[in-house]
Amino acid sequence: MAQQVIGFHFTLKNKAGDVLDRTPPETPLSFLEGSGAIIEGLEEKLSKMSEGDTAEVIVRPEKGYGFRDESQVDVVSKSRLPADEIKVGDFFQAGSDQHAPVVQVVEVDGDDVTLDANHPLAGEDLFFDVEVVEKRAATPEEISHGHVHSQGGCCGGGGNGGCGCH
Ligand SMILES: [Zn+2]
Repeated sequence: MAQQVIGFHFTLKNKAGDVLDRTPPETPLSFLEGSGAIIEGLEEKLSKMSEGDTAEVIVRPEKGYGFRDESQVDVVSKSRLPADEIKVGDFFQAGSDQHAPVVQVVEVDGDDVTLDANHPLAGEDLFFDVEVVEKRAATPEEISHGHVHSQGGCCGGGGNGGCGCH
């Protein structure tokens, strides 16, 4: 089957019913099917829905953000971190590369700082309310780039088939 572009609104809640994230009312999230842009458990459900459909989707960790891995928790010396004031809840990029993993400070004890590289939602069941607002065939250009182009073309600019982001 041809790859599709799916636009949808979502509200994400945790088990306790707290809202963790949601799309703004005017701005649905669009993704190219099969590009890995959204978590597997959500894509599986959305790809079977039609435009206008709503659903509740429960995504388990194995199809969400994975399970917690305690080997991803590390204690480092405060002097190795790029900030003077370090407090629990801060996020750091674990390297200079823009794709370096993001780590969160979970404990500060004197000069010892405990960093956790697990995704904040690792190990959590995720409760989504979703509404599909757009479903269309992807263009050949979108398929070759591996992402969605909005009305303005690639990354909102360019036109002429030029793609500023590659
Ligand atoms: Zn592109």
